[in-house]
Amino acid sequence: KRAFYIGRFQPFHKGHYSVIKTIGKDIDELVIGVGSAQRSHETPNPFTAGERIMMIRHSLADTDIKHYAVPIDDIQQNAVWVSYVTARTPPFDIVYSNNPLILELFEEAGIETKQPPMYHREKYSGTLIREKMIAGEEWEQFVPESVTEVIEEIDGVRRLKHVSGSDQ
Ligand code: ATP
Ligand code: MG
Repeated sequence: KRAFYIGRFQPFHKGHYSVIKTIGKDIDELVIGVGSAQRSHETPNPFTAGERIMMIRHSLADTDIKHYAVPIDDIQQNAVWVSYVTARTPPFDIVYSNNPLILELFEEAGIETKQPPMYHREKYSGTLIREKMIAGEEWEQFVPESVTEVIEEIDGVRRLKHVSGSDQ
């Protein structure tokens, strides 16, 4: 059984990691959609698709989950989004998501969906982590160690602080 899971992963954090570990128990392979792939260098989306793929690859290296990370650019047409995704990904039988729009679109297309349990959502949230990076607060505890390494390699915190600054 091959499953699909999608997020923006700005950055990939321990919530994502934990959900994927749980999903991994029920499936053979996981297709991970890296959403808003064309976006980077902006406050809500600081990291490139390639950088996010590195975060995922290194974080999942300590699991035995076989995965394919596939970048998915945004399209502004929800009605054809499922075909757009399936045209770019290895075939999958089931979609794991908590996003109501994603669930609705896949269900309408007749694809099985499941809602994975949330993992300390109040702590593990991309928005919160980016806010901490900008404020110069501790953020490392919310992401897998390999993600910290990738963000250090690309000087990601400096970039985020820079692009989130005002030009005034
Ligand atoms: P942002 O605040 O930037 O939207 P996010 O933490 O919501 O970041 P996304 O990349 O948007 O991360 O999330 C991808 C998917 O992972 C979403 O469907 C979201 O519901 C889920 N998710 C995010 N955080 C958690 C968590 N702590 N536990 C379980 N699922 C999570
Ligand atoms: Mg989100």
